[in-house]
Amino acid sequence: MIGVDLGGSAIRLGVINDQGRLFGFKSIEIPQSRKKEVVLSLITEGIRKHIQDQISIGNNVLAVGIGSPGIINPDKGLVVTSPNFPGWTNVPLKSLLEKSFNLPVFLDNDANSAAFGEKWRGAGRRVNSLVCLTMGTGIGGGIILNGEVWRGAHGMSGEIGHITVNPEGPKCNCGNYGCLESYSSATGMVRSAIGSIKKGTRTILLRLTTGEIKKIDAKLIHEAAIKGDRLSLNILKEAGMYLGIAIANLMNILNPDMIVLTGAVTGSWDFFMPAAQLEVRKRALKTIVGRTRIVKGKLRGTAGIVGAAGIAWRQSGHI
Ligand SMILES: [Zn+2]
Repeated sequence: MIGVDLGGSAIRLGVINDQGRLFGFKSIEIPQSRKKEVVLSLITEGIRKHIQDQISIGNNVLAVGIGSPGIINPDKGLVVTSPNFPGWTNVPLKSLLEKSFNLPVFLDNDANSAAFGEKWRGAGRRVNSLVCLTMGTGIGGGIILNGEVWRGAHGMSGEIGHITVNPEGPKCNCGNYGCLESYSSATGMVRSAIGSIKKGTRTILLRLTTGEIKKIDAKLIHEAAIKGDRLSLNILKEAGMYLGIAIANLMNILNPDMIVLTGAVTGSWDFFMPAAQLEVRKRALKTIVGRTRIVKGKLRGTAGIVGAAGIAWRQSGHI
């Protein structure tokens, strides 16, 4: 199978065998304009190259699995809308690619793909149920129940980034107020930092960006926290606290075997996790807390590719 993880800044893809091993990993940069035609042709060319490579060494490609951000209709194979690609409305990605390659194509949400990747070959190999949170620019969620992706009645399940964690919180991109994503994503933490700086909070973040507030990103907040910057430490603690509230709710609703956290923000694990754990212990039912593991994803940057291909393997009946 070819696995494709469509991100906002890059298309990452590779070949995945039925054991979940990844070969020929490639990352194709997406130009800033993110024009639909350009992105589609980059995806097509990337897949074509992989298929040709496989044929040249005598391997047979059976299908393509693709994980895309945004609202996906997996049955119809549509990217309904995607925050990363303005102007993408009801793009029939599945049928476009099927026509190009004459192969079955399986399209799913990128967070569902990452969750399935962690279940199939990552941290969740030995469990039946897990919730996977992808913490990056935004927060994506994927739910695995009885070993399968739970997509919900309308393919909309797992929007964990948009759980309300503070009714009085700031406005989120989705239009709601106080979503988890507004606090515990990279974007949310940067928003908190800039808000505090504008209110006059002292921080070394300004010195690290030579006064250019726009240059503050989550990586810089992490670096400042290492240096003991009070504001950065507090922002990461707050991100952890709200994450803990969300995790406690997930545990109480679903009682999963495991919560898996992946994505760039987990690089700051030691700074946000104590606050998250504290909140989980406070809010999740006592009988659940000690029995639900909260772990880092094991597949690092490849969960989406492995999972997209894994879903294709599963849905075509091979695994
Ligand atoms: Zn939201």
